[in-house]
Amino acid sequence: MTAHIIDGRAMGAEIKVELRNDIQRYMQTHGRLPGIVIVHVGTDTASGVYSKTILRIAEEVGMHASLEQLPTLTSPDELQTILQQFNSDETVQGIIVQMPLPTHLSQKMVGDTLLSSKDIDGISPYSAGNLFLGLPSLLPSTAAAVVEILERTHTPLAGKRVVILGRSNVVGTPLAMMLLQKNATVTICHSRTVDLATFTRQADVLIAAVGRVKLVTGEMVRSGAVVIDVGINYLLNGSIVGDVDFASVSQVASALTPTPGGVGPLTNIVLLKQCMQAAGWEAEAGKHATILH
Ligand code: NAP
Repeated sequence: MTAHIIDGRAMGAEIKVELRNDIQRYMQTHGRLPGIVIVHVGTDTASGVYSKTILRIAEEVGMHASLEQLPTLTSPDELQTILQQFNSDETVQGIIVQMPLPTHLSQKMVGDTLLSSKDIDGISPYSAGNLFLGLPSLLPSTAAAVVEILERTHTPLAGKRVVILGRSNVVGTPLAMMLLQKNATVTICHSRTVDLATFTRQADVLIAAVGRVKLVTGEMVRSGAVVIDVGINYLLNGSIVGDVDFASVSQVASALTPTPGGVGPLTNIVLLKQCMQAAGWEAEAGKHATILH
């Protein structure tokens, strides 16, 4: 079997068209664009690149986006005050705070301060709690991007065995909750899992979100499985690879995301899609007020 290679860039282009149409409809109805603000404290290079990508995609789809660049020595009180200002700013529907924060600032404070209805990367305990309870929630964008891929490729999930490698709060664990709600039978593996291959070979859908080169090889994959590679690993020669050994797994799987060009291009687009979702909920004035504070 040779796997169908899932084209994340093409899928991203498709979502951008849909998003642009949704934004235009929002503009016609409300007389203004939905707005996203990116808060970047400090000088982390990867966060800087990530911010620029979000700003570029927002411009492409016609969403209003701005960057709040703050100095590394911003105090906890200053950051909290700025977030509270954005919470009450009617022109802002989505707030993203770039991680990692400088060490003197706590992610918990950010999560506790962000209004969950504007928490478009699903980092607050309130968002996580809503997801856990199966209530409407804004979602961590990488996990949401994986679900988007599975849905757009019409991958059956109900009753299927899904194995997720990785249990982080931003990818593996929220993804497990999302797929459980789609009636998959979900197994989460992690660094203490003994004999990983025993689990991976049972998977109808195998998702690798670890950050280890060639963690998943062809012999660990059941024939015909759908394999989603979330991992991003930087090689010494400057190239980027995932967690999946593409050469051997593509001979066994029925479908496979490449790295680069698979999950990565979708993550930021899905983030903006979530901003549109937040704007839609806000516009439905009060309907979700008891769920999203
Ligand atoms: P993370 O917080 O470092 O979590 C990694 C997870 O992998 C942990 O749960 C860890 O287990 C588990 N793990 C480590 N070694 C393992 C092994 N040998 N076998 C099985 N599980 C193992 O990473 P993350 O933030 O979730 O990101 C995971 C990967 O996805 C990274 O490569 C990251 O760069 C990539 N990523 C990609 C995107 C995208 O847009 N494509 C977005 C975000 C992240 P323990 O919990 O036991 O330590």
